[in-house]
Amino acid sequence: MNIVEYIWMDGAQPTQKLRSKARIVSAEKGQPISPETLPEWSFDGSSTYQATGHDSDLLLHPVRVFPDPVRGAGNYLAICEVNNPDGTPHDSNTRAKLRKVLDAGAAKIDPWFGIEQEYALFKGRSPLGWPDNGYPAPQGPFYCGVGSDEVFGRDLIEAHTKACIAAGIMIYGINAEVMPGQWEFQIGYRGFEGESADPLTVCDHLWAARWLLYRLGEDFGVNATLHPKPVKGDWNGSGAHTNFSSRATRDPKTGMAAMEEAIKKLEKNHARHIEHYGASLGERLTGHHETCNINEFRSGVANRGASIRIPRPVAKRGCGYIEDRRPGANMDPYVVCREILKTVCDL
Ligand code: ADP
Ligand code: MN
Ligand code: MN
Ligand code: MN
Repeated sequence: MNIVEYIWMDGAQPTQKLRSKARIVSAEKGQPISPETLPEWSFDGSSTYQATGHDSDLLLHPVRVFPDPVRGAGNYLAICEVNNPDGTPHDSNTRAKLRKVLDAGAAKIDPWFGIEQEYALFKGRSPLGWPDNGYPAPQGPFYCGVGSDEVFGRDLIEAHTKACIAAGIMIYGINAEVMPGQWEFQIGYRGFEGESADPLTVCDHLWAARWLLYRLGEDFGVNATLHPKPVKGDWNGSGAHTNFSSRATRDPKTGMAAMEEAIKKLEKNHARHIEHYGASLGERLTGHHETCNINEFRSGVANRGASIRIPRPVAKRGCGYIEDRRPGANMDPYVVCREILKTVCDL
């Protein structure tokens, strides 16, 4: 017997959340569990803001399967798309909308993504490690810090990193962030031989990594929040910097020109991108705390106050990738990748 956790995005607004439920299946001998061999399943959409009570059954269609590092060998996590009873994508199915853009031509530019997921750990109503009354010392020593006076929650972060690796999730790295109790992991491009950082793969992996963070947080009595401004005041918000490259930006002959062209198009479409980059984004994009003001668009080499940054080593090489620093931590990667591709490919 195998336990498969079916994971999907609900219909909550303005930010869709994760839901999951487990099904017991029996793998046929020599038939590994895969999206193709897993049964479709249904759920009560009226309890997930996805349907009304009198017509509530929606379909879970597995699209990506990972070994489950929490339950261990023989058990799986399945990322699912949500479909209507007739098999068409449900309106909340943002993955299907990304697929459509890829099929409409975006796949041809061979896009790769790498996403930096920042988040804050909370215990009860305070960030982890914060005093019950008042505030910790001002920001400064915490980013990439070490020591029990500077970093909080490392046991969970280590467990999460190892769980991601065991699941085959493309985790690139981790670091403690600027606000105490705040952390980051990156999912996507790693430069490994034969590993694809195509948008559907990277986004599925990011959602799976988020699910694992919440799930392991249960064991530690700690909750991760993706709110873009978890603590008001002089504290860094949480973003989801989205790094993007195409065949043209990675080619030394065309790289710099292709990156500049992409940035010009992103500037023209700034307002549309902001609309799709997560709720409450204005609380984070203030022009302070390593952000560019939400109403402005700036780009620059090594500029962490920019909307789009070209990393210094990329500029030196003349090819590589650009970093969109605008998305909030609570963004939907299917939506952010879709919007970047629509803009860059004129779709
Ligand atoms: P930062 O200096 O902004 O904190 P990180 O080291 O946290 O950068 O993350 C770098 C990100 O860049 C990773 O998510 C990685 O996957 C991504 N990346 C690197 N090269 C490429 C590339 N060619 N295409 C797309 N993403 C890339
Ligand atoms: Mn980073
Ligand atoms: Mn960061
Ligand atoms: Mn970054």
